[in-house]
Amino acid sequence: MPESNQPEDYLERLRHSTAHIMAYAVQQLFPDGEHTVKLAIGPPIENEFYYDMEVPRPITPDDFSEIEKHMKAMIKANAPFVQETWTFDQAREWFAERNQKFKLELIDGISDQEVSASDEGVADEGVSIYHNGDFTDLCKGPHIEKTGECRYFKLLRVSGAYWRGDSNREQLQRIYGTAWETKNDLQAYLKQREEAAKRDHRKLGRELELFQMHPESPGSVFWLPKGAFIYNHLSEKVRKLYLSEGYQEVRTPLIYDSSLWETSGHWEHFKDDMFLIENEEGDPTSALKPMNCPAHMLIYKSVRHSYRDLPYRLHDQGVLHRNEATGTLSGLSRVRQLCQDDAHNFVTEDQIADEYERILGLFQRIYGTFDLPFRCDFSTRNPDKFMGDVDVWNRAEDILESVLKNNQIEYTVDPGEAAFYGPKLDFQVRDSLNRDVQCATVQLDFQLPERFELIYIAPDGSEKRPVVIHRAICGSFERFIAMLIEHYAGAFPTWLSPVQCVVMTISQKFVDYATEVQQLLLQKDCRVVLDNSDDKIGAKIRQARLQRVPYMLIIGEREQQSRTVSVRSRDEGDIGAMPLDSFVDKIIREVDLDF
Ligand SMILES: [Zn+2]
Ligand SMILES: [Zn+2]
Repeated sequence: MPESNQPEDYLERLRHSTAHIMAYAVQQLFPDGEHTVKLAIGPPIENEFYYDMEVPRPITPDDFSEIEKHMKAMIKANAPFVQETWTFDQAREWFAERNQKFKLELIDGISDQEVSASDEGVADEGVSIYHNGDFTDLCKGPHIEKTGECRYFKLLRVSGAYWRGDSNREQLQRIYGTAWETKNDLQAYLKQREEAAKRDHRKLGRELELFQMHPESPGSVFWLPKGAFIYNHLSEKVRKLYLSEGYQEVRTPLIYDSSLWETSGHWEHFKDDMFLIENEEGDPTSALKPMNCPAHMLIYKSVRHSYRDLPYRLHDQGVLHRNEATGTLSGLSRVRQLCQDDAHNFVTEDQIADEYERILGLFQRIYGTFDLPFRCDFSTRNPDKFMGDVDVWNRAEDILESVLKNNQIEYTVDPGEAAFYGPKLDFQVRDSLNRDVQCATVQLDFQLPERFELIYIAPDGSEKRPVVIHRAICGSFERFIAMLIEHYAGAFPTWLSPVQCVVMTISQKFVDYATEVQQLLLQKDCRVVLDNSDDKIGAKIRQARLQRVPYMLIIGEREQQSRTVSVRSRDEGDIGAMPLDSFVDKIIREVDLDF
């Protein structure tokens, strides 16, 4: 690897180069493939790459070994990647001869400046072309030096995609693969993928009977009893924490008149993502809320606030709707109906630092409980696009940065990436598979108070604008629970487990004592079920294990006589016989938890 390059950049070039090799290999599957396999685009993505193409017949994973064989041949040949600049006419002629209609469209886009220079092959005068061996592609690069560097790769899966993401255009096939610098890296990634597939929250959600999805309501979750328990328990714990931190909970309507969305700016920027309600003429007159902010602005504005009332914090777990495209919906991670641990904190400029300190404290308490380390991206002012006063921005950004530093939070600055109305912190947690999952956002907002003309009375009696902080720590509960399911592989900590304990009888003779044990635990608010079926004890244990139940209490002759329980723990294995009272004490200690 050339020393001057960042490892990440190198991997991106490596993966994109492997995509070229794969495109060439797919062409080799078909007679006259250079003309019949129509290539679209093939960028690197996180850890992987893909290439979109129109193929004479669908590619399936059964084709992978044949494609990989052709790829290996080109890799073995160690062909250099060579760049050339062609004139538009030269490029059009070459790709037209080969029926490469998508490339022709891209070339036209480049000459019209419609495709941005960073997207596809474009040079100052004409079109950038890359060759590797017999393969030629329209491509801006950059690439690695030789195909031999791509030897640690694997094809992964194939899916459908539309040309330019437009469902009215051609349906393409997208073939995904991964490529790494070393064999170890490749194997580690494949292993992580395998583990991730086992923990996939959609799969575990089914197996653990947590939730369902139905085509009758796409992107909206049917929480089954166990999943609903987790959802409610989590939201209750969060609620309790916020109450203790000076937040006031409100409940606000789902549907609002379009005038509110005009005031808030959502009509202008967010309308396509909202569920609109139309009048008889088909004009939208109201909409389901995608966010709680405008409702909270109305509440704030309804009374006069003195500086003494601030910070004023409104917490709302209301139901939100977002009109995500059907194709992008995915399990709990991307839904149309969701709830957040959302809050809006109204503060004076002088209170920003303190308020961020407190908000970061909430992060530490919630994420700390789940052993989830977190880091954040700090988006700062875009010099060409911002509202308000530069000095106010600079002060706010300095404050945010020093709060991050004081709290020793790992962060990266994304200069110029903030929305025009205020600097933003995006938080990612690192789960047990070492994946970064985006959860929470803390957004400082100078704009909404302007739009809603919010004021507070300053100590000198003058009217001042408050600043609003939009903040969600868990983010959407749906996505947060998806992350927790995968983080714990379904084995939730005892306090969050929908069933904490199964009491199981060795035979029907012990049902009375087992029922007594169950009743005692129920009285102590433990979530306990009794398995007194005629199944063998081994089968009962297996069933409880599959459901990731933290404790199994086995009841037989000995236990009944000595008033004990035989305890098997999901996490600690066989603990052995315990007096019933001792077990009750143990489990009560474990479930007694607040953030
Ligand atoms: Zn390329
Ligand atoms: Zn908001």
